[in-house]
Amino acid sequence: MMEFPTLDETHDPARRSFVEDANRPDNDFPIQNLPLGVFGTRADSTPRIGVAIGGHVLDLKKASGAGERFTEQARGALQKTSLNSLFALGLAAMRDLRRTVADMLDQGSSSNQVRRHASDLLTPLGACTLHLPTKVSNYSDFYAGIYHARAAGALLRPEDPLPENYKWVPIAYHGRASSVQVGHGAVQRPLGQRPPTAAGTPPSFGPCERLDFELEMGFYLGGGNRLGKLIPIAEAAQEIAGFSLLNDWSARDIQRWEMYPLGPFLSKSFATSVSPWVVTADALVPFRVAALSRPDGDPRPLDYLYDAADQANGGLDVRLQVLLSTEKMRGAKEPSFEILTSNAKYLYWTPAQMVAHHTVNGCNLLPGDLIGTGTISGPSPAELSSMLEFTSAGAKPVVLPNGEQRSFLQDGDEITFRGRCSRQGYAAIGFGSCIGRITASEI
Ligand code: CA
Repeated sequence: MMEFPTLDETHDPARRSFVEDANRPDNDFPIQNLPLGVFGTRADSTPRIGVAIGGHVLDLKKASGAGERFTEQARGALQKTSLNSLFALGLAAMRDLRRTVADMLDQGSSSNQVRRHASDLLTPLGACTLHLPTKVSNYSDFYAGIYHARAAGALLRPEDPLPENYKWVPIAYHGRASSVQVGHGAVQRPLGQRPPTAAGTPPSFGPCERLDFELEMGFYLGGGNRLGKLIPIAEAAQEIAGFSLLNDWSARDIQRWEMYPLGPFLSKSFATSVSPWVVTADALVPFRVAALSRPDGDPRPLDYLYDAADQANGGLDVRLQVLLSTEKMRGAKEPSFEILTSNAKYLYWTPAQMVAHHTVNGCNLLPGDLIGTGTISGPSPAELSSMLEFTSAGAKPVVLPNGEQRSFLQDGDEITFRGRCSRQGYAAIGFGSCIGRITASEI
């Protein structure tokens, strides 16, 4: 049966850091979180591995270079410019590192080297450039949000909203790894073929007119598997190093015209954004929940996808939020507007089931590979997690506080995802944000 990481002293809600802003309850990165990322500074732009603590980044490359507390293998992995080698060490090594870093940043470690060398090892987040957490060799995107599959299906295929295979197969497609980018930059509106407006007429060519986001979570592989050797469901949770927010930007008009019969191609491959911080599987232990309960009449998953512990603990309770800011709003110094919220607990398939399914044919997953969950919509209209669903394919535009309306995204629009976990008796943690601002097509 599957083993999940367990609670330990790193989750103790009473722990405080000497980095003062990490102790504010509304802060995403308290000492109980310790998410990993890759950053550079103005003084030293070399990408290196760090951990976010409050409003600062702790330089783990420098900290481990002088620290005898780090294992030799962790020290080696922390010299790299991406997290792939660290993730490849597996969850036990990452847990060990988490304990070490928590001890270093603890308020009680008054004599530790971080405090002594704080100015050297800690940089304010605002002075850092954040890079992609891993070198992503492969990216696959699932379709595990059943409320999204139903809502999007009802708009695209009213006669058959939920495909017959949906409750048996965790459906996915291979995404494009090269255009995965860290979520704080520009996303260029793609050009492409737009569908004919009347039967028998040709498609038109030009900038996408139905640009959309998809609210998803992403997760990164740990050790992975050799070609031909599958990862059984009972071991799959141990292969997931950590989670982030993921925006699967989608060009709906291009998608509608190109996707039959092989699925989306250019309508998705132009950009995928991930949040810069990877919240580790260990940090998420207090926020594990049961997998979405299958209504009576739904089939039990096939054996290779079924594990009792995964059903009991394989879900995640992460409150997700999408905010929109237009150029006009920013010009008037108006704050971003929350257009919808959702929760990762609505996924029909667990991340472990996705890993087991992905490898069941012998396909090899590599350390640092990225997997998207699929759009995570919820059961209520306020939880429909793409513009396509939220506006009923443009029929019911979102009205913003300044009177502007949006059916799909316009140039200058900025989309921000946030994610936060809270539970009575534990310190709340967050994912930071995943941001993208739409820029005009380059013709
Ligand atoms: Ca997607």
